[in-house]
This record gives sequence, C-alpha cells and structure tokens, in this order.
Amino acid sequence: MSESEIIELLEKAEKLDVLTSGKFFAYIYETGDEKLKEIALKALLQFYNKNMLDFTVYRSAVYFEREVVNFCKRLMNAENAFGTFTFGGTESIMLAVLAARNYFLKRKGKGVVPELAVPFTIHPSFIKAAHCLGLKVKIFDIDEKLKADVEGLKSSISENTALIALSAPNWPYGTIDPIREIAEIAKEKEILLHVDACLGGFILPFFERLGEKVETFDFRVEGVTSISIDVHKYGYSPKGASVILFRDVELKKESIFVNTSNPGYVFINTAVLSSRSVGPLASAFAVIKYLGEDGYLGLSKDVLDARNELLNGMKRLGFKSVGPVESSILSLFNDDADLISFVSRMRELGWHFHLQRRVEKYRIPLNIHFTISPIHKRTVVEFLKDAESALERREERKEIKVDEILESIKSGRFDSSLAPILTEMFEEESVNELAKEIVIDLFG
Ligand SMILES: *Cc1c(COP(=O)(O)O)cnc(C)c1O
Repeated sequence: MSESEIIELLEKAEKLDVLTSGKFFAYIYETGDEKLKEIALKALLQFYNKNMLDFTVYRSAVYFEREVVNFCKRLMNAENAFGTFTFGGTESIMLAVLAARNYFLKRKGKGVVPELAVPFTIHPSFIKAAHCLGLKVKIFDIDEKLKADVEGLKSSISENTALIALSAPNWPYGTIDPIREIAEIAKEKEILLHVDACLGGFILPFFERLGEKVETFDFRVEGVTSISIDVHKYGYSPKGASVILFRDVELKKESIFVNTSNPGYVFINTAVLSSRSVGPLASAFAVIKYLGEDGYLGLSKDVLDARNELLNGMKRLGFKSVGPVESSILSLFNDDADLISFVSRMRELGWHFHLQRRVEKYRIPLNIHFTISPIHKRTVVEFLKDAESALERREERKEIKVDEILESIKSGRFDSSLAPILTEMFEEESVNELAKEIVIDLFG
C-alpha cells in the first residue's frame, strides 16, 4: 500500500472511536495541556525502536527507569524502597502478588496453597494475578463507609495468608481503606501488605498538600510492604507506564525472573513482559520532568475544583454520593431518576461514564461512576447543562432485550457503560461466558 492509502485507513480507524476530548470520565486522564502532549509524543517516538529487554545494551532504559521510580518513591515517602517500571497497573500488581507468593513459599515450604485476602472493592487485577499464580482468594466485606471492614479482614486471614491488599483509593467508589489499622494487624501477624495506589498514587499526595483530609496510605505506614502506582493515570503519561515499589530488597528480588540455562541469550526479566519498547518509559520520564511536583499540584487543584463543582451541580439535580467523597472519584445515585436512560441519553450527547451495578448486600443502589481529570474543569458547566436536560426527558424506556444488547455491542452501537444491565439479568457465570463470546466474535 502507498503511504497515502495507509494514512487514509488510519484516519478511518480513528473515526471508529467516538472520542471527544473532555467528555470521558474513564480510560483517559486528560490535562488539556498541548505542550505536555507534544513532549510526551516526542519522547515516545524518539525511543520507540529501543528495547527494554536488555538493559546492558539500552542504558537509556536504566536511566529513565531510575528517574521515574525515584519520583514515585518520593511521592510514596520511601527514599529507601526498591522499584520496577512496568507497562501498567495490572502488571505491577502481578509482580506484587508474585513476590509475595514466592516470599511466602520460601518461608512456609511447598504443599501449602498461599492465600490473598482482599476487600470486595479491590481491583480485579488481583483476582487475575491470584488466578495466574495459584493463590486462593479470600474476599472480605466492606463497611458502611464502603471501606475494607477490619473485622472482616481479621476473620479472613490465617497462617496461609501470603498477602493482604487494600486500595488508596478503590476504583468503584473512590474510598480509601483503613490502611493504618490493617497495617498494624498485618505487621503483628507477619503478613505482607500491598497498597494499590494505581489510581491514587499521583493525586492523593497532592490532595493532601491542598489541605484535603487524606488517610495516610504510603510507606509512612509501617507494615505496608509494597505499593503499585500508575504513571499512565494521574501521572498523565501515555498508556504503558506504571511502577511497583517494594519496601525491602528481598521482596523485589522475589519479583525478578532469571534464566541462564537456555542456549540463547541471558534472560533477566524484572517485569512480566520481556521485549518492550523504551518509548512509554521515556515518555513517562519526559512528562514527569515537564510537570514536576508543582505541575502535579496545579493539575490536582483543577481536579479537585472540577470534582467539587460536578458534585454540587449533581446534588442540585437530586444525586447523592454512595459513599464518603475522598478522592478524584465520584459515584452517584439518584432514587428519582432512571439511571439507565440517563446514561444512554448522555451518551447520545457525547458524554461517556459508566453505570455501576447494585450491590444488595451493602445496600448500594445502581450508580454512575466519574473519574475526574483536570480537563473537566473546562467542561463541567456544559456537562451539568446536558445532565439537566437529559433528566428532564422522561419518556418510557423500551424493554431491554438481551439479543439486541449483544448485537449492539458487536456493531458498536452500545458499549460497556451499560454492562450492569446484563449483570442484573444473569448469573455471574453466564455473563462471563457472554463476555468471552463477544470477544471471540469481535476478534476471531
Ligand atoms: C487502573 C487501576 C489498576 C490497574 O489497571 P491497569 O489498567 O492495568 O493500569 C489497579 N487498581 C486500581 C484501583 C485502578 O484504578
């Protein structure tokens, strides 16, 4: 194909994503800063064809990784910690669980199935890590503030617990677990404790500096042994950038895989993946250098302003928060509104946010989720205007037919923002099967 033909195809593909800047409340973390984007892209392209596989050859990767990890260490108050750059939060979490499992098996011996104790609100990547690495998952309750329940935690740990994981904050409700209280228990029982700050790591420290009340969750808390923190979220770098930090060098060693017995090259992997472009790492470095702590502080102020304005505006429209508001996440419900219609109408107006399912056990109603970005400071007024008009349009909702939903997902007329409709209708297992069928149908 000629260059122009390829460009045409690329442009056509780009139109498949109905993406408007400032209108997404998930997936992307937009600052609206064009200069930041320019610098991030420059670094991404300049290093796209270098390989993180061999850091003895690509020394730039060592330099960038040390710098990015050091910035994260300072943010998490652990100058003496050890860290690894990964391509995403899920990969960081995989390494945390791997290290904990190996550390546990070394001490407790083989023949024991190590366990992972997590609250109901933990990110699914922990369940995935346990699934891949052969740990048994013990899910414990959350309390009325939608935080890990301490009594629940106590009854779910045993001598087989290899790791406890908590969130700062969790994705669905944005609440921060009682890290200090649980860290004391973990320390006393000599159980490793991971804090998932994938979402909060680059923003909660700045909320704290802005005078917000933030529960201490980082390495200042004795007993916290590892932390995951995503640069590709509130670090504002392109996707493919996260860091896992370990308090002790022994734990980091357990996350490294080395093989020198194969007949080819010496295989030293600090992460799950092996060959990787240096591009995302270089880009993460460039964005961190561009913003610095002051830059992050300013953007965090924008997020805080946008969050408060959105929350107050939505309250005027009859919405309430499902839990205490403690971070850059809002999850809202409205007893008088049909949220399914609301999400669809707003989608027609170009806004994208998710419906989250009802959880009867904790008396959580159907709710909508917002991850706030700095750019929303500019779009919140327009959002509230549209939200008001979307709420006013009160026509009967058509009956929802499963076949139609599946067809619309496949054809792109419908996306996952309304997925709770399916989880409300079916048992978990059949929804999981449906999801796999959709994947096979779409990708082959
Ligand atoms: C985003 C996120 C992760 C990891 O997700 P990736 O998509 O793999 O980066 C883990 N925990 C929380 C709370 C998150 O929000």
